[in-house]
Amino acid sequence: MKVDWEELRRINKPFFNQLKKELDNIEEECHYILGSKVEKLEKELTKYLSVKYCVAVGNGLDALTIALKSLKLPNSSEVIVPSNTFYASVLAIIRAGLTPVLCEPDKDTFNITSEGIEKLITKKTSAIMAVHLYGNPCEMNKISSLAKKYNLKIIEDCAQAFGATYNDKKVGTIGTIGAFSFYPTKNLGGIGDGGLIATNDEELYNYCLKARNYGGEKYNYDIIGINSRMDDIVASFLLSKLKDVDSLNDKKIENASLYLNNIKNDKVILPTITPNSKSVFHIFCLRVKSRDKFSEYLKENNIRTLIHYPIPLYKQKALKNYIDKDYPVSNELSNTIISIPCSAGHTKKEIEYVIDVINKYEE
Ligand SMILES: *Cc1c(COP(=O)(O)O)cnc(C)c1O
Repeated sequence: MKVDWEELRRINKPFFNQLKKELDNIEEECHYILGSKVEKLEKELTKYLSVKYCVAVGNGLDALTIALKSLKLPNSSEVIVPSNTFYASVLAIIRAGLTPVLCEPDKDTFNITSEGIEKLITKKTSAIMAVHLYGNPCEMNKISSLAKKYNLKIIEDCAQAFGATYNDKKVGTIGTIGAFSFYPTKNLGGIGDGGLIATNDEELYNYCLKARNYGGEKYNYDIIGINSRMDDIVASFLLSKLKDVDSLNDKKIENASLYLNNIKNDKVILPTITPNSKSVFHIFCLRVKSRDKFSEYLKENNIRTLIHYPIPLYKQKALKNYIDKDYPVSNELSNTIISIPCSAGHTKKEIEYVIDVINKYEE
């Protein structure tokens, strides 16, 4: 058997069929950017997330950047962010004129904890970026108390966690402001770039609305914005996929549960899910000491894997002026983690094959 990393073709077929029908409508309406589909998507997303305001933007990086700028934090103030997150989390902080401060994660949940964050708080700290990495929510109760104690803002990077909940609340609606990505492989993946900002704060909402469209409304500009608008074709596709996103997430969770319950090999460490939360398993990440050997073994058995992420942030050339020390936990993770196939498009048979192969692995 051959198991691919992702199965987008299988997942997206019904939504493409619906889009084909909607295309006539889009042609007729002739409003291709920020048109009625985008407006409807924003409305449906506020309902889905149970949040007051949503702003659709061009991609996840812009969602994070605009969200950070809306907070009007002091120039160059410090934002605490995981040392093992995707590059875009940190890039957004720098683009917003702020200083990233890397926080080592917990090795079992892969997320930052309130203890780790508290050690890094200085007079210059203005915000915490809680990244719900791999779809697993951060411990938001403790992080929220900490933010309150030190008067810090919380920005949630939910790019990998659409639909995940903490204490039955959707992530992205717990902190001050939340940002999502609709990049094709994300849990609510589109057919082009796309992103979203969610908040309950009207002032932040008004800032974000302007910021995505040059900084105002035709032809009156109050702030320095960017062009980060969503297309109606992308929005139309996302609208039909949104109706099924819970069942797609459930399918991912089902596949992840098969792994959690049936992988039995003492060479392999399974991930830990944050208590009181629902992970949506954007990525199913294992830890294995001889990772490269393990990865080669899976490849020989026709199972595709990836590493999220092979080069830790502190070793990225582009960040050398921002980060000047080593991060042993993220370094160790980058050498031992491996992501195995866990798509909503994978069949039970495929997942069982992966389990069987992993259980037979010998170092
Ligand atoms: C994908 C991702 C982003 C960026 O989203 P884009 O839409 O690709 O710009 C930001 N943060 C995390 C954690 C991501 O996984």
